Amino acid sequence: MQLFDVAIIGGGPAGSSCAASCASVGLRTVVLDREQFPREKVCGDCLNPLCWPILERLALAEKVRDLPHSRLCSVAFISIDGREVTVDLPSDAGGEISVKRSLFDHLLLTRARELGADVHEQTTATGLTRNGFWNVETASGESFRARTLVGADGRNSTVARLCNLLPRPKRERVALQAHVPRPRHFEDRIVLQFLSEGYSGQAPVNKTQLNLCLVGTPPTISTLRKWADREFDLPANQPWRTITPLTRSPIPPVHENLFFIGDATRVVEPFTGEGIYYALRSGELAAHAIAKAFRGDDWNSALHGFRRAYAQMYRGRLWINRLARAAVLRPQLGSLFVHAAQIRPAMVRFLTSKIVSRRNSSE
Ligand SMILES: Cc1cc2nc3c(=O)[nH]c(=O)nc-3n(C[C@H](O)[C@H](O)[C@H](O)COP(=O)(O)OP(=O)(O)OC[C@H]3O[C@@H](n4cnc5c(N)ncnc54)[C@H](O)[C@@H]3O)c2cc1C
Repeated sequence: MQLFDVAIIGGGPAGSSCAASCASVGLRTVVLDREQFPREKVCGDCLNPLCWPILERLALAEKVRDLPHSRLCSVAFISIDGREVTVDLPSDAGGEISVKRSLFDHLLLTRARELGADVHEQTTATGLTRNGFWNVETASGESFRARTLVGADGRNSTVARLCNLLPRPKRERVALQAHVPRPRHFEDRIVLQFLSEGYSGQAPVNKTQLNLCLVGTPPTISTLRKWADREFDLPANQPWRTITPLTRSPIPPVHENLFFIGDATRVVEPFTGEGIYYALRSGELAAHAIAKAFRGDDWNSALHGFRRAYAQMYRGRLWINRLARAAVLRPQLGSLFVHAAQIRPAMVRFLTSKIVSRRNSSE
């Protein structure tokens, strides 16, 4: 059996960015993903501007701009009673865009493959053993051996579960997502709408399609769906993708020669649309640490550097995400925030600029 330097479970943004960065410095890298790409994914499809420098480093920025997308010029917050406050977003080439995850994730995984990663699609990791090296078993009976293992397999990480690290799921919320026909007058903007039962996020992903997300609890999600059917005139057989949980406790990102990146380590509230950035960046940081260790640097100092850079990535950002979570868990509170923002728009402009910023102090 071939021995890899790094085995990465999951080929989403976290796994692909880690694989591309590992392979580009000559590490023998294998990626396993249970899906066949291109595949859709429950997501609002919005790319925070912080993603651009990482995409530049992966030589992908221009290719992403060549994909069908919408350049998002503003974000509108709508209260339960329909009041609205709008904040402009930077609308140049380095601003926020929305792009279908099927296209974006496929581009990233293809880049990892081009740089030399051995990518196996439709390959589900089901078992792990550790005997000096990591041995990953798959549903089809294949196994892969590696010195370092990276869990990039999302919020319900199998790697974390097999290592007894996955926090118990709480009684939680659920999200639905669909691409629906774009209403004729829907502008190039994000809409974040508080509803009595939860919230909805909407963003056009191209000239004809709108990404529509609904977030509620298991008992209320069908009411939200009925609201969406009426609001967007959807057919009775509209297909929806679904995901849960929306919140869970974080897992430490590194345990000796086992790394967790992206949603596998920390799930952030989707309302602020930052998850893809954290996935790309944590993948890149883990790859740097692994490469350092393989170059002969002291393993502990490589891990220490990774932990520091990982914590730095979130510094000064998580408090807004927590604030957003408080608002969406009590939509009436979120609506009061919209009312207040109509009187004092500077407050909502300040909070938005903190999220949709172009530079993170960690980079
Ligand atoms: C409703 C909602 C809206 C969101 N909107 C946005 C947004 O607008 N902008 C934004 O930046 N973020 C958004 N997010 C968050 C974003 O989707 C995630 O943060 C991001 O997908 C994390 O990337 P990842 O690579 O860590 O995980 P994922 O994208 O989940 O990728 C994990 C991969 O692992 C694979 N996998 C899983 N288990 C196995 C296994 N056992 N074996 C092999 N492969 C496996 C999966 O097939 C998948 O391809 C949203 C999330 C939700 C729920």
